[in-house]
Amino acid sequence: MTDVLAVADHRRGELRDVSYEIITAGRQLADETGGDLHLAVISGTVDEFADKLNREGVDAIHTVSHGEEFNHDVYSQAITQLYDDLAPQFVVTPNSVNGLDYAPAIANELDLPIVTDTVDLETDGETLIATREMYGGKVETTNELEGDAIVTIRGAEWPAAEGTGDAAIEAFDADIDEDAIGSTVSGFEEVGGGDVDISEAELLVSIGRGIEEEENLDLIRDLADALGATLSSSRPIVDNGWLPKNRQVGQSGKVVTPDVYIAIGISGAVQHVAGMKGSDTIVAINTDPNAPIMDIADYAIVDDLFDVVPELIEEFEG
Ligand code: FAD
Repeated sequence: MTDVLAVADHRRGELRDVSYEIITAGRQLADETGGDLHLAVISGTVDEFADKLNREGVDAIHTVSHGEEFNHDVYSQAITQLYDDLAPQFVVTPNSVNGLDYAPAIANELDLPIVTDTVDLETDGETLIATREMYGGKVETTNELEGDAIVTIRGAEWPAAEGTGDAAIEAFDADIDEDAIGSTVSGFEEVGGGDVDISEAELLVSIGRGIEEEENLDLIRDLADALGATLSSSRPIVDNGWLPKNRQVGQSGKVVTPDVYIAIGISGAVQHVAGMKGSDTIVAINTDPNAPIMDIADYAIVDDLFDVVPELIEEFEG
């Protein structure tokens, strides 16, 4: 009862970054318990996924071949059966839309305590200390769990595992009760702008309330084009209906980890920073030298965006 079972995440045929981050989190826990790290991947394309997931630190990969897309009932049944078979001490899942769908159901089914959205994990082999943030990152809580437990991990909090591993890859013959599958994915319909996944972008130009009017967004689009960057925003821009929800960075938007994040007319509220503090380099353009974004910016331009942005466009288009 010292092993760790982590679960990979994928969407529309692609493994999510958190699948590699969960290996790092799971390996750390397994080192602390002295156990093995097992990784489960449930999909129709398990062989390809298993090869990609075979990174340093994984002891065994268990593949469950069932359907291309995420399905609540399939995941719940397969992971519950894997838990019964492997008897791990901890189950670690992503705090993704999928993970948040099945992890609480499994906790209920297995009668295990669960802590969601964790940003740090530590165990002495008996007690698991799971840290999560509250009030948009203003407060951290530590939750002590005795015995077996389930945790979901926040994306971009652990580095992605690297290096080729030598895990044993085993097909797990889950006994899926097809009659108990209450829903199936019949297709996907993109919401406007759904073609873009800002969480995968390497260069983000992000706009906030400093832009004042929807018409002025064209200026920021021109800058993004000149830089070859992806456009994202703070929440007020989305609340105004100027950009679709999938462009929103932050606590109630997406977590992003680009190489460069250019925050233009964004104050840096805790709820926004929660979604972009993992960026490698942060550039802020803001008239207010005391805006909170300045506390985390690597480079700051304290000036009016309506003066600065045209100059940047000219420079980069030039
Ligand atoms: P403001 O705070 O109004 O900042 C505008 C900035 O633009 C100011 O710093 C100002 O100095 C600067 N500025 C103005 N004019 C210019 C100019 N001409 N040139 C240069 N700079 C200029 N917010 C998010 O972003 N993402 C979230 O996911 C999110 N989730 C939330 C969840 C909850 C439960 C709550 C309560 C709030 C959430 N918020 C979120 C909202 C958050 O609290 C802030 O209100 C929001 O981030 C502010 O957006 P902003 O920085 O664009 O606007």
